[in-house]
Amino acid sequence: MNINIKDFRVPPDGGVKLDEWPTRVEPLYQSKHEYKKLLKAQIAELSEQQQLHYADDRHALLLIFQAMDAAGKDGAIKHVMSGINPQGCQVFSFKRPSAKELDHDFLWRTTQCLPERGRIGIFNRSYYEEVLVVRVHPEILRNQKIPDDLVDPDTIWQQRYRSIADLEDHLHRNGTRVVKFFLHLSEEEQCKRFLARIDDPGKNWKFSAADIEERKFWPQYMQAYEACLNATSTATAPWFVVPADDKKNARLLISSIILDTYKSLQMNYPVTDAQRRAELLLIREQLLAEE
Ligand code: ATP
Ligand code: MG
Repeated sequence: MNINIKDFRVPPDGGVKLDEWPTRVEPLYQSKHEYKKLLKAQIAELSEQQQLHYADDRHALLLIFQAMDAAGKDGAIKHVMSGINPQGCQVFSFKRPSAKELDHDFLWRTTQCLPERGRIGIFNRSYYEEVLVVRVHPEILRNQKIPDDLVDPDTIWQQRYRSIADLEDHLHRNGTRVVKFFLHLSEEEQCKRFLARIDDPGKNWKFSAADIEERKFWPQYMQAYEACLNATSTATAPWFVVPADDKKNARLLISSIILDTYKSLQMNYPVTDAQRRAELLLIREQLLAEE
């Protein structure tokens, strides 16, 4: 596959205009059959890399997925991670915060779910909702019980970006690699997918009336996403804007980006030194003597 990952990466100095970034690109596959073959190969490679990651046990990998409804977050997570050893990977979905969660600062609930060394952690939505849905609906902010004198509407979003960037810097310095995906869907494609969810009884469960309400705020969401991507894509915790109108292509892109991240890490299987080897041989002798 001929992919230049940089084409999808939001540069650290920002400048991305979402309406100029494609929601569909030339596909990386020619047919469904070829797509399956390519994804299978990517998954096999990911599985190998993840085993090495687990054995090396130094880095953690945090993958963050953000998108509008029906952009294919769940499907991408399911398909791309399908070959991964479940012991090495955990997925967390973040919905509306509970009363207990609202009693803490906005990074509290996700911090408890950060991946351990040697593991992949997937956030299906994340602390980024705090500068997205909360920005689009300021009444949510008013319910967060933050003291009034600390909520200045002119600065609060910049402050939140800074909190997030500081957290991600801290994680990087301690061995966690953070990679963020925005699945970039067009408004038209979302409409088509909602219609399919209504027309196909088998998909009715996926449809929620709340999704239609949020769709009415499309321009506000795009503004909030654009500001967020430009403010929080850094050299060490980059955002990738993945064209999402074609789900298959999005999955191939996401798996390529994860593989690229893995390959940038110095990972090694632990080696057995001479002393350890001698210990093992001694134990072997003892075991043989028991027989
Ligand atoms: P799916 O629809 O595929 O099940 P989803 O991620 O859209 O997946 P929902 O239960 O439909 O899950 O939606 C979760 C909702 O919770 C979203 O509307 C999201 O914006 C909202 N949410 C997530 N985090 C926060 C937050 N910190 N504050 C307020 N709302 C949030
Ligand atoms: Mg939803």
